[in-house]
Amino acid sequence: MRVLSGIQPTGRPHWGNYFGAIRQYIDLQDEDESYYFVANLHALTTVRDPKLLSGYTLDAAIDLVALGLDPKRATLFVQSDVPEVSELCWLLLTGTPMGLLERCHAYKDKKAKGLTADAGLFNYPVLMAADILAYDADTVPVGDDQLQHIEVCRDLAGSFNHRFGEVFTMPKAKILDNSAKVPGTDGEKMSKSYNNTLEIFEDPKAQRKRIMRITTDSRPMDQPKEPEGDHLFQLYSLVATSEQRDEMAALYRRGGFGYGDVKKALADAAERFFADARARRLELAADPKAMHAILADGAARARQKASQVLARAKKACGLLL
Ligand code: ATP
Ligand code: MG
Repeated sequence: MRVLSGIQPTGRPHWGNYFGAIRQYIDLQDEDESYYFVANLHALTTVRDPKLLSGYTLDAAIDLVALGLDPKRATLFVQSDVPEVSELCWLLLTGTPMGLLERCHAYKDKKAKGLTADAGLFNYPVLMAADILAYDADTVPVGDDQLQHIEVCRDLAGSFNHRFGEVFTMPKAKILDNSAKVPGTDGEKMSKSYNNTLEIFEDPKAQRKRIMRITTDSRPMDQPKEPEGDHLFQLYSLVATSEQRDEMAALYRRGGFGYGDVKKALADAAERFFADARARRLELAADPKAMHAILADGAARARQKASQVLARAKKACGLLL
């Protein structure tokens, strides 16, 4: 399998991002070949502050390595360091029907809200297709919200191949297991836009405070409760060991505990769960030169692959004389 995944540098990563995506991406680094990129060209459609964008980009790369991505096994790079992808994007754009993009939900949703979309957002699925096709990726792990974009990619690859010959590898989506939506501090789905996140790399003291403020229902102390539907318990289950989780579940069913105790246990478990990653992150952040070297090496490897694919595509459509 040749696996490709990208993460957008649009803010600090939270538990939802980790359990819903990043952890599962990293697990795929053992496949034949894996490519991980920080999608700064995509982020440019929303992050317009240059300092913020470059900071988030480096941070995202550091985060991935801190969380276990091994840049020796996997190719880790920044999207804009591979200009071949933007060139390939143009080739694909010339064969993209407007109607196909008009049906894509990111654009449609924005328009439905009465907001004006720019061409960057409109063409986002084509750039994403170029990202995938440039590395001959056959497997793309995505949440179900991205399935439509994989279909667009397959459409574009299919019609290019049909018109000009077999140039592109047809990719398949691998659906991430996000059946367990990570709840936020208010019990709704955790999301940057809802301002209810627990960040992975937040200072443990600050995180403890945030955890102590998680909303709960007004169940009295003596009343037992089913653990499954409770968002505090769901959060605890993510970072506790399975024994701890079972003990906590029993406590819920027996009753006679306060939510304050659960929150303390949650803060302790979270601090332990992310301790190694946090320590690694501090080391990596202290040595930005080393990180830049990792990204330069990744970009060189990625460009080697992407330039072969681009040459194939250019030759097929008559751009190479
Ligand atoms: P935004 O508010 O801008 O949509 P977000 O916080 O929801 O940001 P995304 O960038 O949309 O984060 O998501 C990145 C990845 O993390 C996606 O693959 C998504 O499925 C996953 N993810 C985000 N939030 C959760 C969550 N609460 N539970 C499970 N997975 C999540
Ligand atoms: Mg989201």
